[in-house]
Amino acid sequence: MYELGVRRSREIDVQALADKLNRDNAVALTGAGISVASGLPLGNEVVQGIPLNEFFMLHTWEERPSQAFAAYRDILSGWRRATPNPAHQALADARIRIITQNIDGLHRDAGSQEVIELHGNLRELRCFQCDAVFASQLVWKDDVPSCPTCRAQLFPGFILEGDAVRHIARAVEWVAAAAYLVVIGTQLAMDPVRRLREIARERGADVIWVSAMAEEWVPTLFLPTR
Ligand SMILES: [Zn+2]
Repeated sequence: MYELGVRRSREIDVQALADKLNRDNAVALTGAGISVASGLPLGNEVVQGIPLNEFFMLHTWEERPSQAFAAYRDILSGWRRATPNPAHQALADARIRIITQNIDGLHRDAGSQEVIELHGNLRELRCFQCDAVFASQLVWKDDVPSCPTCRAQLFPGFILEGDAVRHIARAVEWVAAAAYLVVIGTQLAMDPVRRLREIARERGADVIWVSAMAEEWVPTLFLPTR
């Protein structure tokens, strides 16, 4: 494993690595650390009276939907001002496939086409009744938006505590086929994402870990695909 961060864990020839990585052999696995330079709020804030951890719990949305959606609108407005940073952009320009734990949608904003959002997306709304997904604009119409199809209350498009991550089977497929797994801005502390790194190792893939300063390291690792 190679580590690129504030300090390097050992001497790494970054240029030699960059020459090897491309869209056919590398998959990126990203977490909150890649979006820090985009100015996204992280951590233990309270929005509209709702602590961020409760924002991700189903009972908040069932018991206090109007307050939960007020917080949602606040967070959505803040996040809409965030733009992709050079790390998101480099991955998009190199057309690297991305598996992300982030719900900020910045990989898609940067132009990446092949993105697995394991935790869903803040900018989508979901109907539990008919399983349809809608754009977040519906929250500006009603205090608590309802499904245009079946009228049931909508819920946020990101996964709530206790939900299974999405598309994990496809993520496993991508990782199993990759020669390089580039882990960016995440510790992969929890299953099932921790399992993805194990799969890469079992398959003999090289794991490259960008633990800090993603906006500087990632553009040096990935060259644009012409
Ligand atoms: Zn519905």
